[in-house]
Amino acid sequence: MVHRIAVVEEDLCQSKKCGLECIKECPVNINGQECITLPGSKIALISEELCIGCGICIKVCPFDAIDILNLSEELKSDKIHQYGVNSFRLFRIPTVRKGQVVGLVGRNGIGKSTALKILAGQLVPNLGDYEGTATWDRFIQYLSGREMKEHFERIADGELRVSLKPQAVYKLPEAWTKETRLLLQQMDERKKMDEVVETLNLKETLDKKLPDLSGGELQRVAVAAASLKDADLYLFDEPSSYNDVFQRLAVSKLIRGIAESGKSVLVVEHDIAFLDYVTDYVQIIYGEPGAYGIVSGLYASRTGINSLLDGYLPQENVRFRDHAVTFGQRAAGETVESEEVVAKYTALGKSYKAFKLEAAAGEINGGTILGVVGANALGKTTFLKMLAGVEKPTSGTVHVDAKVAYKPQYLSSEFDGTVDEFFMTTLGSKYTDPVLQDNLVVPLRLEKLLARRMGELSGGELQKVAIVATMAQDTDVYALDEPSAFLDVEDRFVVARAINRMVKARGKAAVVIDHDLQVVDIVSDRLLVFSGDPGVSGEATSPLTKEEGMNEFLRRVGLTYRRDVNTGRPRVNKPGSKLDRDQKDRGTYYYVSAQREESAPAD
Ligand code: SF4
Repeated sequence: MVHRIAVVEEDLCQSKKCGLECIKECPVNINGQECITLPGSKIALISEELCIGCGICIKVCPFDAIDILNLSEELKSDKIHQYGVNSFRLFRIPTVRKGQVVGLVGRNGIGKSTALKILAGQLVPNLGDYEGTATWDRFIQYLSGREMKEHFERIADGELRVSLKPQAVYKLPEAWTKETRLLLQQMDERKKMDEVVETLNLKETLDKKLPDLSGGELQRVAVAAASLKDADLYLFDEPSSYNDVFQRLAVSKLIRGIAESGKSVLVVEHDIAFLDYVTDYVQIIYGEPGAYGIVSGLYASRTGINSLLDGYLPQENVRFRDHAVTFGQRAAGETVESEEVVAKYTALGKSYKAFKLEAAAGEINGGTILGVVGANALGKTTFLKMLAGVEKPTSGTVHVDAKVAYKPQYLSSEFDGTVDEFFMTTLGSKYTDPVLQDNLVVPLRLEKLLARRMGELSGGELQKVAIVATMAQDTDVYALDEPSAFLDVEDRFVVARAINRMVKARGKAAVVIDHDLQVVDIVSDRLLVFSGDPGVSGEATSPLTKEEGMNEFLRRVGLTYRRDVNTGRPRVNKPGSKLDRDQKDRGTYYYVSAQREESAPAD
């Protein structure tokens, strides 16, 4: 048995601009009943009772504003919140546990923020009764016999203290313009400021004013501020964004410490290597972005992340993706590295007043994707700009007869128009290339963005547009600086797969800088490793094999990785564990046999 839901996305439905095709073409309307109407001449209203699920309105809506979906009948009793008629609904609520870190992972627009607001007591769930008055009493009664009842009883009684690290850290300087030190002193209810500042390497940041901080500093200040509050539940919404691998490790250490002190912690995160490392349990939110989200059961981290990669939840018998994400395997029929050298450079130097970069000579063959790893502020972007001809080296030469398409790290859009107009102006017919459509435009749901103005896009939406605009180019080298930033976990997989497939199918090359090691693992054939003193000097190796490169990089980070026996994905070994010590003794920081996982201790 199924129940039908109809969702009209408010910001997409433009009834004044379209010809009201949905109303005209709906067969129920044609037969004289009012299935789709336009009350108040604003947005379409669809009767879920009258709708027969033919899907015609979805096809005729020029703005992709309508979703008609069939959900299982049993889910009806799991509905936690619905914002209004024909709007987003959340089924089930995440679980938090004392002394444990629970990870929450899923697409953007799938209900993670709604779930966090409910857990924090900022939103009283209405159980789907969006016209009635939602009360904690009613919700607590609904939770009778369930694990989270006590949590919400304490919320209702005002006894549960919650500390939230918000996702949008870039908004913090609007609320606090003074020095970082003053902010952290004000938040320091636990009297742990010195310890937290040390762990997150924020000493140099204390005397800077918030509006002057880099993205990475702002993120760590936000994590520090949230962790200094004295709370029972700590919610960290995307704590790894903007940070490099070293900084992500420091954040993990801090979050684990909070849980180990007996507090409940929930982390929303898209970097699954980080999620795997920091959490005890994982919950997946799946569904349809903008339409509905379902919170899965609680899984041990390894099982949950493997299910996420599989796209299948065996315990719930739910498939939420039609393919599994794989690691370390080339798809059959894909071309591999060719003999043809598409880019070559001598040893390169670049000097600024206070920073110096030196890169060893190298070349990139056709069909190769060169991953670039290293801490922030070591000159990775400068290297990419030199390769792309955007910056001139101080010494050495880049022999790139080849054309380079460059996607910068920081995205801004001065284009005054819609996404559709942007693609028509910059790409023309390249936008409709079937390879681009199949690999990026359709899976990234770019069609939903076409009517939006470029200046109004979020960071993740702008990232998708920039990746499509780069990968559509007829070029020899695709240079992408942090393509995973701001993307959700599913879109990261899509982009990594698309870059790999498109570059190999076209026999071109790509250089990809990223801090998400799972993305780097999926996308790269070879690696360039950066080291040095951040902000002062950086050094880059020649292109290494992926094994050599990862080994070199992880040795510097001080972590060892093994491969998961089921998915082949790289997993961090628990520091100090037998496997960690054995691998370090052998100098094998990466790529041990997947079979060893079976005897590995849980981490
Ligand atoms: Fe009408 Fe429902 Fe068909 Fe849409 S899916 S056209 S609302 S019957």
